[in-house]
Amino acid sequence: MTITYLLRIRPPLGVAKTVIENVKRSFASNATFAEHHKLENIRNIGISAHIDSGKTTLTERILFYTGRIKEMHEVKGKDNVGATMDSMELERQRGITIQSAATYTTWKDHNINIIDTPGHVDFTVEVERALRVLDGAVLVLCSVGGVQSQTLTVNRQMKRYNVPCLAFINKLDRTGANPNRVLGQMRSKLNHNAAFIQLPIGLENNCQGIVDLVKQKALYFEGQLGLTVREDEIPQDMRVECDERRHELIEHLSNVDDAIGEFFLEEKMPSERDIMNAIRRTALKRTFTPVLVGTALKNKGVQPLLDAVVNYLPHPGEVENIALIEKKGAEPQQVILNPARDGKDPFVGLAFKLEAGRFGQLTYLRCYQGVLRKGDSIYNVRSGKKVRLARLVRLHSNNMEDVNEVYAGDIFALFGVDCASGDTFVTDSKLELSMESIFVPDPVVSMAIHPTHSKDRDNFSKAIARFTKEDPTFRFTYDADVKETLVSGMGELHLEIYSQRMEREYNCPVVLGKPKVAFRETLVAPCEFDYLHKKQSGGQGQYARVTGMLEPLPPHLNTNVEFVDETIGTNVPKQFIPGVEKGFRQMAEKGLLSGHRLSGVKFRLIDGAHHIVDSSELAFMLASQGAIKSVFEEGSWQILEPIMMVEVTAPDEFQGTVIGQLNKRHGIITGTEGTEGWFTIHAEVPLNDMFGYAGELRSSTQGKGEFSMEYSRYSPCMPEVQEKLVSDYQASQGIVVDKKQQKKKN
Ligand code: GDP
Repeated sequence: MTITYLLRIRPPLGVAKTVIENVKRSFASNATFAEHHKLENIRNIGISAHIDSGKTTLTERILFYTGRIKEMHEVKGKDNVGATMDSMELERQRGITIQSAATYTTWKDHNINIIDTPGHVDFTVEVERALRVLDGAVLVLCSVGGVQSQTLTVNRQMKRYNVPCLAFINKLDRTGANPNRVLGQMRSKLNHNAAFIQLPIGLENNCQGIVDLVKQKALYFEGQLGLTVREDEIPQDMRVECDERRHELIEHLSNVDDAIGEFFLEEKMPSERDIMNAIRRTALKRTFTPVLVGTALKNKGVQPLLDAVVNYLPHPGEVENIALIEKKGAEPQQVILNPARDGKDPFVGLAFKLEAGRFGQLTYLRCYQGVLRKGDSIYNVRSGKKVRLARLVRLHSNNMEDVNEVYAGDIFALFGVDCASGDTFVTDSKLELSMESIFVPDPVVSMAIHPTHSKDRDNFSKAIARFTKEDPTFRFTYDADVKETLVSGMGELHLEIYSQRMEREYNCPVVLGKPKVAFRETLVAPCEFDYLHKKQSGGQGQYARVTGMLEPLPPHLNTNVEFVDETIGTNVPKQFIPGVEKGFRQMAEKGLLSGHRLSGVKFRLIDGAHHIVDSSELAFMLASQGAIKSVFEEGSWQILEPIMMVEVTAPDEFQGTVIGQLNKRHGIITGTEGTEGWFTIHAEVPLNDMFGYAGELRSSTQGKGEFSMEYSRYSPCMPEVQEKLVSDYQASQGIVVDKKQQKKKN
């Protein structure tokens, strides 16, 4: 009989009860309460993968084997319930996890918090936010698909945030499963020093179990839903292979670990413990990646993966977390937070996720230091607002449990706290600490948006308000000139997903326009201004004069807009300075060259003049606007465009084609690497040239090429692109441009 992995649903009440029973049971039987709260017994992990690798199924299995849920549902199963982690309708339909949710469970006296990281390239902010909060990760790969484009993306992000990881090669049961090939790709495409710590016993239909290479034992998953793990001898016909692979593991470890290196040189066999310690040491340093295998769907290999999480991924005390003390006008100071769970240091927590859901407004936090108790008051460092906490909860997807206190290393949630994701909370209001702000890239694509039916306006506003709060890379603006509302984000799909969510969750279908790249206008060289705004005929007069300089900022600050007041004396009275700044910032919203926002410029107000009666904030605002207009006429300007870091990988025979295509798209190759028949090219390509690349790459590499891209920075665009943008804009404004003059200016 085949194993039934599709179980029927139970009423939600039943599930909730089970959860509570399980908690009671695990506390009663396994360990004391205090043991559950030891730092060494906590793991905050993420599960990252390319879409469809089985991340959701694996998470579901983990929750099942750890006793957090009583039943399993297949993700796209007939029961219409979906896996527990996928709480959103849309996610279920798309089969991808868009929102990260945090859930916790216990395994062998360890408390494991799983932060569900979305894998899609367009949702990098959510991934980055989640990665910031995790201490370790499981990278799930498909035995057939291997390293795919999102694998490259999440791999790069793990590298950036220095997140130690384990690899789990899933779907051993699929036709065409080839974990050896996937391991090869991990080495060649991801540059991991990786080796198997397990081997499959049979593949495809014949997938029976796995061999643990460290312990040198075969493991079979038996009983209902593979709940019983039976240990046995390694099958006779696999002994030679297992010896070879174990040797390979030791060799890979010896390259990066001195202790094992010595054994290797002396040709001695390290003990099981030696190997385990070496795997842990090197995995934590990210110099080695242990590779595990299994099939989540067929319930094989999940429990040993949990053991590996406990054995080889770091606890919160092994990861350094830094906060900043920021005072106005001073360099921020770094402070290392104390992860000890003794509650002696003041509480510091980071809000990493907001969710308006079934239970109202929920804020997910990670506690980095100290203790927080029910009834405590906390301060939002950014806004200074104080809130008293009526409830603290821990979450398991759709269910929650009240807790009385949380300590450093814990992930938890609060109700009804008004904040933005990335905000730091403290209990001591004098503590001006903030966690490093989360890296938030500027949105690079925008689309016009409006509700299909005007009756839905209210819902539209509600949806926009919620989404922009949850996702700092999703922004909403109104372009007064063309009377259009615009949404901007990190890619076309990013915006499309939100438009679909508006329809599904807010009953508000919307119409999206064509995607537009977010160009910027900037100055090439400093330009002085001296502008007098004067209107003294009839009625209340207006008089204001501003002199100063508009300067380009250095390239690494070219997305900023700065204003400095360098006036001495009272020629420009202090109360009018805000007017000058306001005028400048308003003008910066829309450049006169091509209608795009200004960036990478600094407005230095040096001097000016006022009139005792006729000066006002308004007059200074208008003077400042006039000054910018004059700089547009006299200064030399250029247009900046977002440049993307693109990573393409494909079999060697397509290298020439791929390079050719990237060149055609004005890409600059910044590096190539390759091993074992595959190459990886790193290139920088203007976003404006990337539309349609996915299809081109697919068709020119017989579907074998993969790519990922990520925003890098803004850079001046090609002269012909600039010329076209300027002339299109001028034409749309009804301005006839003298081409020759235009050229001279550029
Ligand atoms: P996610 O997009 O990474 O979260 O992947 P899902 O968990 O939604 O899985 C995608 C599809 O792969 C679903 O149809 C799963 O049933 C299927 N799947 C997951 N794990 C396995 C596995 O081990 N073997 C096979 N054959 N299919 C699997």
